[in-house]
Amino acid sequence: MLDRSNELTAWDRDHFFHPSTHMGMHARGDTPTRIIREGEGVYITDSAGRKSLDAFAGLYCVNVGYGRQEIADAIAEQAKNLAYYHSYVGHGTDVSITLAKMIIDRAPEGMSRVYFGLSGSDANETNIKLIWYYNNILGRPEKKKIISRWRGYHGSGVMTGSLTGLELFHNAFDLPRAPILHTEAPYYFRRADRSMSEEQFSQHCADKLEEMILAEGPETVAAFIGEPILGTGGIVPPPAGYWEKIQAVLQKYDILLVADEVVTGFGRLGTMFGSDHYGIKPDLITIAKGLTSAYAPLSGTIVSDRVWQVLVKGSDELGPIGHGWTYSAHPICAAAGVANLELIDKLDLVRNAGETGAYFRQSLSNALADHPNVGEVRGDGMMAAVEFVADKDDRVFLDPALKIGAKIATALGERGVIGRAMPQGDILGFAPPLCLTREEADIVVSAALDAVETVLPRP
Ligand code: PLP
Repeated sequence: MLDRSNELTAWDRDHFFHPSTHMGMHARGDTPTRIIREGEGVYITDSAGRKSLDAFAGLYCVNVGYGRQEIADAIAEQAKNLAYYHSYVGHGTDVSITLAKMIIDRAPEGMSRVYFGLSGSDANETNIKLIWYYNNILGRPEKKKIISRWRGYHGSGVMTGSLTGLELFHNAFDLPRAPILHTEAPYYFRRADRSMSEEQFSQHCADKLEEMILAEGPETVAAFIGEPILGTGGIVPPPAGYWEKIQAVLQKYDILLVADEVVTGFGRLGTMFGSDHYGIKPDLITIAKGLTSAYAPLSGTIVSDRVWQVLVKGSDELGPIGHGWTYSAHPICAAAGVANLELIDKLDLVRNAGETGAYFRQSLSNALADHPNVGEVRGDGMMAAVEFVADKDDRVFLDPALKIGAKIATALGERGVIGRAMPQGDILGFAPPLCLTREEADIVVSAALDAVETVLPRP
C-alpha cells in the first residue's frame, strides 16, 4: 500500500477536530499525529511500523484484545444480511433480541430490560430522562435532582458532562447544569483528615451525602450515580464499606441508584459486573465499552424490574415513550456484541481479568511502591494506577504545571507500552485488555519502572 502518512498528517492537522485534544498544539503540529494501522492481541501498530503494547485497551474498551476474527466475521455477516433496520414500535433483529437476553442473563439480580444506545454518554442521557419520567409517573414531579461525585466520569454531553465531576469537562462549557449536584469523591488517598480509617472515611462520605440530601430536601433528590470504582477520575477503588453505607442512605430517602458500569461491565473487575464485585444493588446500570469490546459502538441502559413497572404504567397513561435513537440496537453493533460476549465466555476472560489482574497489580506494586515519589499503587481487577507525589511522608502533591504524569506516560510510550496520564492529578493509569497474559504484564511493569525512574530518578 502506498504510504501516505505525511499527507495524512497534514490533513489531520488541517481538518480533523479531535476529542480531548489541545486544539492549538495539534493544529500547530506540536502534538504528534499517530496513525494507528493494525491491532493484534494486546498490541497495536502505527504507520511507522512501531508496535505498542496497549495497556489501556484503547480507552478501557478493547476488552477481548485486537484482531478477533470471530467478531469481524459476525459484523461482516450481519452487514451483508441486514445492515440496518430500526427498533421502533417493536421491531427487532435476531441479534438485538439475542443480545438483550444475553445481557439480562449476565446482569445482577432484579434486572429486566435493556435500552440500547451508542455511547456511554447517550446511555447516561437516557438514564436521566428515565429517572425524571419515573418520578413524574409516580406523581412526584419535584423529585428530580441527581447527585454525582466529584471525580466521577459519566460522559461529555450537556447533562452527562454535568454528571462528570472533573473540571476539565466543565471549563467554559457552562457546566454543570441544574439539577445535577456533586458530593465528595470516595478517594481515601486524598482525604483531608489523615487520621481517618478507611471505614471512617466511607462513613464520612455517606454522612456528606446525607447532609446534601437533607439540605436540598429528600423530596427533591431523585437519584445517585456512581462508577463502582472511579475510572477517569483516577482509578480509585472504593474505600472499605463505602457502597454499603451509601446504599443505606439512598434507601432511607427513596433515591434511585445508577451504577455506571461503562468501564466495569462484562468482566473488568474479575466479575461480570462491578456491582457484583462490590455488593451494589442498582436500579439502573449503564453499559458500553466492554459490551462489544469497541468493535462497534454500542451502549445500553439496563433497567431493573422496579423501574420498568413504573415505565410501563407511564406508557399505559401517556402512550409510547418519547425517546428513541435511529441507531438504537443497530444490528451490526448488536452482532458484534453477541460475538464479543460469546468470546468472553469461551476464553474465560472474566476469570483471567481477576487472576492476571491481581498478578499485574502486585507486580506493579513490587516494582514501584517503594519509590520516593510514588504515593500509592492501587486498583482492582484489570485496572491499576500509580499516583505520584512530591513528598510521600507528608503526602504533598506535585505541581500540576510540571506535568509529571504526562511525562511518565510519554516515557512509557517511548518504551513501547501505552498507559494513560489520567486527566486530574499525576496518575498513570492501566486498564489492559482482559486477555493480558502474565508475560505481557511483566513487559508493562518493567517498562513502567524504567519510565518512572527516568523521569523521577531515585536520589
Ligand atoms: N461512563 C463512564 C464510567 C466512562 O468511563 C465513560 C467513558 O469513558 C462514559 C460513561 C462515556 O462513554 P462515551 O465516551 O462512550 O460517551
